[in-house]
Amino acid sequence: MQQFSGRAAAPGLAQGSVVWFAETACGKTPQGTPAQELEKFRLAREDCTLRQAQLYQAAREQAGEEAAAIFELHGMLLQEDLEEYVRPYIEQGKPAAEAARLGMREVGALFAALDDDYMRQRSEDMAELGEELAAAIEGGAAPTLSRPAILAAQQLFPGQAVSLPKGLLLGVVLQKGGAQSHMAILARSMGIPLIFCPEAGPDWHGRTALLNGGTGGIVLDPDEARQAAYAQSARALARQTALLESYRGKPTQTANGQSVALLANIGGMADLPALQISDAEGVGLLRSEFLYLESPNWPTENAQYAAYCAALRALPGKPVTLRTFDLGADKTAPYMHLPACANPEMGCRGLRFGLQNPHLLKTQLRAALRAAACGPLGIMFPMVCTPDELDKALTLLEECRAELAAEGTAFGKASVGCMVETPAAVLYAAELARRCAFLSIGTNDLHQYTFASEREGEVLYAAADPALLRLVGMTVQAAHAQGCRVNVCGQLAADPAATRALLALGVDGLSVPPGQVLAMRRHIADITV
Ligand code: PEP
Ligand code: MG
Repeated sequence: MQQFSGRAAAPGLAQGSVVWFAETACGKTPQGTPAQELEKFRLAREDCTLRQAQLYQAAREQAGEEAAAIFELHGMLLQEDLEEYVRPYIEQGKPAAEAARLGMREVGALFAALDDDYMRQRSEDMAELGEELAAAIEGGAAPTLSRPAILAAQQLFPGQAVSLPKGLLLGVVLQKGGAQSHMAILARSMGIPLIFCPEAGPDWHGRTALLNGGTGGIVLDPDEARQAAYAQSARALARQTALLESYRGKPTQTANGQSVALLANIGGMADLPALQISDAEGVGLLRSEFLYLESPNWPTENAQYAAYCAALRALPGKPVTLRTFDLGADKTAPYMHLPACANPEMGCRGLRFGLQNPHLLKTQLRAALRAAACGPLGIMFPMVCTPDELDKALTLLEECRAELAAEGTAFGKASVGCMVETPAAVLYAAELARRCAFLSIGTNDLHQYTFASEREGEVLYAAADPALLRLVGMTVQAAHAQGCRVNVCGQLAADPAATRALLALGVDGLSVPPGQVLAMRRHIADITV
């Protein structure tokens, strides 16, 4: 028995024998003259165009219109005049497949430089099409399955997945790919677990595997005990999923009719797929600092703008609350050169860091204001202690608005709020609420600063200790008196043991991890406040 821990990309469980798909195993034809290579490219393009139409039909039947749209789009992009980008590479002596890859990447780079956000995203589609054209030229086979199996491969295109007979594809393990790839989106639409695992290889072929697409866990050659545990989890998951699915699209309400907004917390852009299938009513907390931590340098205004628009597009028309970077403490990267300090949790972090580095905060605020033109974006400041700090942040925001207006750059009307994560912020709740459209209580930090008990350390005080709940109650009362809404976005929001108390205190919204939205809606429906 062997166990692997891969990156979870589409949830679900699968058990079956592995079929390893060696995608370029089919014979490559030898390189011909430039004229022959050009002809290979033209034939491959016709082939791919025809294939996109077939895949569109297949995907529509198997996964619905939304998932099928990828193939319609690819068909349209193949109609463009692509030859002028590919021909120069062939004339330089490159084989048709490589020329197709390079040429399409060049078109992709042109798309990436455009102002239009939608066109910029098409740049990835062009790279994907370049790979498909190259596969068609090299004779890369589509995988085939003759019996239900788990498909493992280095890489798989969405087209290859939908062309497999429905019902035979139990799960997929790929060496390469990202949670935001079309393959991952498609797997989620098809309800097929997908895991990215670099250790997968041809030696997996024919072996039995258990996949958990929710955790990324893979067991090869499971022993009997593992198989029995899997069967039990599969039965429990099936029952649980069916039950939770009945809450999808329903309003979030207690048994006695009290409504509450059920929102999701997300970190990096890798969480967007999970957000899309969560049925959340919006994003209550986008921890934007993850964008900074994943980046080799300070992310540019444009990179941030693109990321925030992507978050808004993931839940069209629904509110997304962007928290400005809460850097410092445990969230640092080497390029940031944050000042050393004896106790970083109490040092230069969150808004303090932003106010000491206003150019960094302003870059983010400009990106956020621009993104607010794409959808209902809220901007929320972290680790606020005093109204004075919030005023300084609001002044920077105003400066950004004025600059964008003077430049003639489009921006939107973002609602503004702040987090309540320190006892000082609770005591200042009325003053903060007067300046804000909403407050959001970060119970993770509020707990550690209230009990002088570090959040990463041993749990010394209950998560829902009455002292913490009193602070929540004080915040809600003070904010409501100013007509300001209050959400809770710390872990307590997702703790079923605390839900009743939070709702009884009058909290307006709970923001929880995307995977817990449906379970929380079900739990709330059973509560009487
Ligand atoms: C919190 O402190 O509760 C919170 C939501 O912020 P973070 O967990 O990112 O510090
Ligand atoms: Mg916090």
